[in-house]
Amino acid sequence: MDTYTLALYSTVLAFAIAAALLFCYKYMFAGMTHGIDFIGYASLLLGLSLMPLCLGVTQSDTYIVFFSNASYSVAFGLFLLGIVLLRGASQHLATIGWVSVLGVIAFFFYYTLVEPSVGSRIEARSVLVFTICCLVLYANKTGTQRDDEKARLLLMVTMLINAAYMALRILVVHNQDAIKDYYSVSFLHKLSFVMTTLTVVSLGFCVIWMLTSRLLKRTYLSAITDELTGLYNRTGLKAVLPDVLFSNPRNHYSVMLADLDHFKLVNDTLGHDKGDLVIKHFGRVIYNLCRDSDKCFRYGGEEFLVVLPNTNGKVAESIANRVRRSAKKLSGAKGSIAHYTVSIGVTQVQKDDDWNTLIRRVDQALYEAKSNGRDCVVRR
Ligand code: GH3
Ligand code: MG
Ligand code: MG
Repeated sequence: MDTYTLALYSTVLAFAIAAALLFCYKYMFAGMTHGIDFIGYASLLLGLSLMPLCLGVTQSDTYIVFFSNASYSVAFGLFLLGIVLLRGASQHLATIGWVSVLGVIAFFFYYTLVEPSVGSRIEARSVLVFTICCLVLYANKTGTQRDDEKARLLLMVTMLINAAYMALRILVVHNQDAIKDYYSVSFLHKLSFVMTTLTVVSLGFCVIWMLTSRLLKRTYLSAITDELTGLYNRTGLKAVLPDVLFSNPRNHYSVMLADLDHFKLVNDTLGHDKGDLVIKHFGRVIYNLCRDSDKCFRYGGEEFLVVLPNTNGKVAESIANRVRRSAKKLSGAKGSIAHYTVSIGVTQVQKDDDWNTLIRRVDQALYEAKSNGRDCVVRR
């Protein structure tokens, strides 16, 4: 394929990717993150920088050649900045990138307008892309965002291939006779269009992959989280309950079910909004007293369920009593919304239990706690 056609394909693809990324930034991931927008602008600039080649601009159009090379360099600086922001990596990486871009632009100025040399410009472009690829690799590896592993791997492979190609190109062009005409370069140099296209397509794809996966994770998390208390909701039960809950009862799982006492009265006297605050308060009490391994759910209106791994019934009962006393004490303190008490049922998972038998038993224990006058714990 000749250089015009290759440049045309690369330009069209870069514009298409730019449009896709910028639309995604504006409409799909609106307000979610910065980074994808910079990668979109980078693709746009890259397309613009390749346009003169499609139009047959020659080496004698020095200003166009210079601006084309300069915008190509800025595009790679923007690619790096985008990845740094997106992955939550150190901003110093982007700074190193911009310094390299400026250095290379100065180089282009000299080897285009002062002492024109196609070979030196190819060398400078290759060194810059090699440097940016290495910085992107580092940003991808050290970024603090917990992005999809496979998307990160694909980004890494793309950057490695591109960096390896650029290293080879530097070696070849360095030991080659001077290149006079950019339109009649060898296969290795023409391959740079394929590499550029591959990089842009892959970068765009990886970025959309990462952000879509973040969006899905966020949506999933909000589907299983109770908005008021921040605890898991009932939908979250299936999602986060340990698989081994019933399969290995020797692990001593226990559950407790807590219900606020006379809560209708709280609503009736203080209003629904204050009632909500009381529910939120108790959610905090439960969350603060439970361990990281315990799973806390808002099971119903003012009912809370906690699954406690590695805890026998007796220990669970003492934890429940701690929760009960703490709720009573904290809600009775000065400045609190309302003084309230809770009743709690506790039970340990038995050998032949399934979810229904377990819930029935803990519900029965709670019922007994209510019957015993409330503000107490009953274990069954
Ligand atoms: P008991 O001691 O027997 O539990 O008495 P109770 O008044 O708490 O009775 P019950 O548990 O049956 O009543 C629950 C009340 O909680 C009924 C409902 O109006 C209220 N409720 C349920 N969900 C919410 C909520 O999200 N916010 C508020 N403010 N109230 C809620
Ligand atoms: Mg109640
Ligand atoms: Mg209730």
